[in-house]
Amino acid sequence: MSEREDIRSFTYDKLRERIAALSQKSFRADQVFDWLHVKKVDDFDQMTNLSKELRDKLASEYEIYEVKAVSTLKSSDGTRKYIHRLHDGNVIETVLLRYEYGNSVCISSQVGCRMGCRFCASTVDGLVRDLTAGEMAAQIYSVEADIGERVGHVVVMGSGEPLDNFDNFTDFIELITDKRGACIGARNITASTCGLVPKIRDLADRRYQITLALSLHATTDEKRKTIMPVANKYALSEIISACRYYFDTTGRRITLEYSLISGVNDGEEDIRLLAGIAKSLGAHVNLIPINPIEERQYRATSRNDAVLLKNKLEKNDINVTIRREMGRDIQASCGQLRRKYIKSQ
Ligand code: SF4
Repeated sequence: MSEREDIRSFTYDKLRERIAALSQKSFRADQVFDWLHVKKVDDFDQMTNLSKELRDKLASEYEIYEVKAVSTLKSSDGTRKYIHRLHDGNVIETVLLRYEYGNSVCISSQVGCRMGCRFCASTVDGLVRDLTAGEMAAQIYSVEADIGERVGHVVVMGSGEPLDNFDNFTDFIELITDKRGACIGARNITASTCGLVPKIRDLADRRYQITLALSLHATTDEKRKTIMPVANKYALSEIISACRYYFDTTGRRITLEYSLISGVNDGEEDIRLLAGIAKSLGAHVNLIPINPIEERQYRATSRNDAVLLKNKLEKNDINVTIRREMGRDIQASCGQLRRKYIKSQ
């Protein structure tokens, strides 16, 4: 990591403090924040309403960490998958999804991940490092620059466990929802967690209006432990109770993410228990037919079976969707594109 901090990571209040520490008037902080998060520049020299002296001073104290698209795959359905190179040479994945309601970007929150979920390519080499708040925001800005359109929805479901990078993640939420900056509505942001109980509670206490998606994937501790090592640390009962706290505190309904793995978690009993958990939380269920990954042996539940399972849940009055497969023609699941890119270098 660079010695100099990433100025793009500073929330408005923090930026004001730092600008004041340089003996500058407070309106300078507004100008710098505007350059970084409205005009979205990535070079101090582009901040043309600042004096050359101040630009040089900022450049000597801080950096704007680079997030540069080095590879882009475009799907016939409008999906774009990006490999972004960071200032230290690490690479991450970012995905643009186009919906009727607008553009949505799925960002990474860490380089790699240490959570070890058995069906996930992002964790195969463990955690390399956390992303800064600015590096999370810059993924969105890079996509906007590429398509020449605004991004109004964000999902934090790429590589990494956002709650394992809690301070940077929460700074990121404050940054991109700031009305003086990118101004993305909190209700248009979804973050997923594999179930870090104390952090779910901490996040609830922030009272952001973001949607929390719990990566559930199995309905008993026993089964969850076979696919998600985090289950050895936190029991489902504790996770469900933390999710209930999140709902009660924020008023935001939880989403349960459930990857369908053939013969592993898609049986009658699994679905009965899933219905029970969803009902107890008043949660929405998102069924995800997994993409097989080379490094693991899991197979996806067929589309037909997924529809049958959806119907079963609906009969129990559960609100369910099957995640639409987007960008299937350009690459498979999260984390794989990055691994392929690294291997090809
Ligand atoms: S699914 Fe998410 S939490 Fe689990 S290993 Fe992959 S990136 Fe990490």
